[in-house]
Amino acid sequence: MDKCSFCGRNKSQVNILIAGVNGHICDKCIEQAHDILKEEFQDKDNFNEEFKLQKPKEIKNFLDQYVIGQDDAKRYLSVAVYNHYKRINKKNYNNKEDVDIEKSNIIMVGETGTGKTLIAKTIAKMLNVPFTIVDATVLTEAGYVGEDIESLLTRLLQSADYNVKKAEKGIVFIDEIDKIARKGDNPSITRDVSGEGVQQGLLKLLEGSIINVPPQGGRKHPDQKYIQVNTKDILFICGGAFDGIEKKIGQRLNTKVVGYAASKNIHKIDRKNLLKYIAPQDLKAFGLIPEIIGRLPVLTYLNPLDRKALRNILTEPKNSIIKQYTELFKMDKIDLIIDNDALDYIVDKAIEYKLGARGLRSICESIMINDMFDAPSKNIKKLRITKKYAQQQLEQNNKELIA
Ligand code: ADP
Repeated sequence: MDKCSFCGRNKSQVNILIAGVNGHICDKCIEQAHDILKEEFQDKDNFNEEFKLQKPKEIKNFLDQYVIGQDDAKRYLSVAVYNHYKRINKKNYNNKEDVDIEKSNIIMVGETGTGKTLIAKTIAKMLNVPFTIVDATVLTEAGYVGEDIESLLTRLLQSADYNVKKAEKGIVFIDEIDKIARKGDNPSITRDVSGEGVQQGLLKLLEGSIINVPPQGGRKHPDQKYIQVNTKDILFICGGAFDGIEKKIGQRLNTKVVGYAASKNIHKIDRKNLLKYIAPQDLKAFGLIPEIIGRLPVLTYLNPLDRKALRNILTEPKNSIIKQYTELFKMDKIDLIIDNDALDYIVDKAIEYKLGARGLRSICESIMINDMFDAPSKNIKKLRITKKYAQQQLEQNNKELIA
């Protein structure tokens, strides 16, 4: 009977047995050999070469293709990312002056569904670096139920396919950072598990240190206990809705503005969008500890999405929702045409249901579900969605949403 010449398993014990001149090799041994090769070459990987770093304007142009509006956030992020990777590459510039450039970790404040994750994701895509999203709410101090803080590096390692060097230049997006805020502005004597303890834990990741990361599920390191990851060059981007922070901003603006000269300024304040005046002290008032705020020096905000922005999100981004549906139908050789007033209707409904940009997709899905089911089996060349048709489909297919 044929056997693998490497591990001795016979044909029935493996998936594939490949014959060579004088022997055989099984799929398991091929995989193992491949892993050994990969690890061997990992250090010699060309990842150490300088990034082909885009200038801030180029980064912003790239973001513009995917993210509608949010100009301030995009500008801040472009500069922060540029500086971050310049800092990483600094050693290659042979700089005589020994100026230590600090990390430019970022915090973005804005309602949910306004594009925070999308911006972070798009930047990672552009740079082609490992990227992971973690929800701060699942993190707990070591020893409590939930995920240890180190677990977010496990995920980054996974997305880098366990290439430590690559992971060490990756981006981690920490969502819902506002949910680990301390309740109230006064430091508690007893630590609260959910908030401050986690913030303390995050600190050491943010500032850059060598962390022992449990490989967890990494089939390549089944017996290795920890992988050491240096977070010095990992860019952390945090995002949060910070519900109610406008009130704190408003209070600060009111107390600061005193005297005649200041009273002139007060008229210029855009009361409808106070988020744009956000400052580090507002984050502190909300319950982030000053040390964390200090480690997130780039602070920016996202605007709530208005009707015009939502309408643009439907059709303008490079991979907009409508472009995706058009592509799906095109694969069945069907031309999808959606009337403008039908698009406006979708936007109206998203606003009505208070679902923001996230709602656009589920509304489109409800409108098109029947056609996506039927059309591939019919011999049609064209599918036109009028406002009336959209209305009728949505009402028929999404009774819960309407109710
Ligand atoms: P957040 O992280 O702020 O809660 P997301 O970035 O996850 O929101 O946005 C949810 C979805 O809404 C995205 O996948 C995207 O399709 C859409 N979206 C939100 N904001 C924008 C925007 N400014 N431009 C384009 N699409 C957006």
